[in-house]
Amino acid sequence: MSLKDIIVRRIRHDGPLSVADYMATCLLHPEHGYYSTRDPFGTDGDFTTAPEISQMFGELIGLSLAQSWLDQGAPDRFTLAELGPGRGTMMADVLRATAKVPGFHAAAQVTLFEASSTLRRIQSDTIVHPLTYLEDIADLPQLPLFLVANEFFDALPIRQFVRDGAGWRERQVGIDGEILQFGLGPNLPQPALSHRLEDTKDGDMIEDCPGAAPIIDGIGTRITRHGGAAIVIDYGDWRSLGDTLQALQNHAPTDPLQCPGGADLTAHVDFEALCAAVPCAHSKVTPQGVFLERLGITQRAQSLAASLRNTALDAHIDAHRRLTHPDEMGNLFKVLGLFPKQHAPPAGLEP
Ligand code: SAH
Repeated sequence: MSLKDIIVRRIRHDGPLSVADYMATCLLHPEHGYYSTRDPFGTDGDFTTAPEISQMFGELIGLSLAQSWLDQGAPDRFTLAELGPGRGTMMADVLRATAKVPGFHAAAQVTLFEASSTLRRIQSDTIVHPLTYLEDIADLPQLPLFLVANEFFDALPIRQFVRDGAGWRERQVGIDGEILQFGLGPNLPQPALSHRLEDTKDGDMIEDCPGAAPIIDGIGTRITRHGGAAIVIDYGDWRSLGDTLQALQNHAPTDPLQCPGGADLTAHVDFEALCAAVPCAHSKVTPQGVFLERLGITQRAQSLAASLRNTALDAHIDAHRRLTHPDEMGNLFKVLGLFPKQHAPPAGLEP
């Protein structure tokens, strides 16, 4: 049975699904989920992420984390964590770039948070360092935590609500015969959304990502208690407004209801909501291009360019532009740093 048939049956039996339930099923159904069944990255896949565009991305982030580790007295045991590591490319680049930082590798316990067993296997092949997998953020060790998450929060399921007077109608996935279609649930008060009554009008849609705050809280609590730093990179903006649910297949947008389990589903990250959940200090939400320039991507790009010729050189110049240019990923993608309040923000995220 296809995932679409499974979803249609479930709706027939239990009624419409929230967008969050639909998203979670499409992405992580153990047998048919998008991430459970494939390696979606790269030119042959459905989308390309920053670490897959260039090694410079993971290298610079690794050095920023290592600088914070040194600034905080180089603790001799710490968790080096990544959320949603995809192919493991970024962690491999982080580890290569930090190999010469004395004591860093010996102190690091590399810890990954990954739902897909297919991607776990690929990660273990890519990362040549002992790995631990977390089943739950609550299991993060009681140690200093240096963490990175690129395009992880955009994959967490969102709920969508349409304003109707003083209440909200939740957007749902229902069926018409065998066809999946969006509809709206009953008008209900949503106390958690009362602050959004101030800046919305009837008919406006807002999004809420219920899974994000507990994860940010778990990370920030370790950083407060034991020290560390986190760098979160994702696409999105300050305060959600409008429908940002997006499906991508073969590098092209498609209808999110068209091919359950066959397309990547993401939504813009609401950085206001992330910041509100941070229990330690946090940086400004900084555009990716600005962050990478501050970390010296141009110098790193020039030094790598010296050994490249022809198409390899063209691809490298193009990668630098894609990561940093405001018309490419430079502005749409934002970076948020978490750090202990008695310390400086991670390099690249200075006020
Ligand atoms: N960071 C990688 C991959 C981003 S795609 C990169 O930049 O290339 C999102 C990643 O998060 C995938 O590895 C996916 O399997 C994982 N993921 C998605 N939802 C998750 C969840 N709820 N829990 C743990 N991992 C999840």
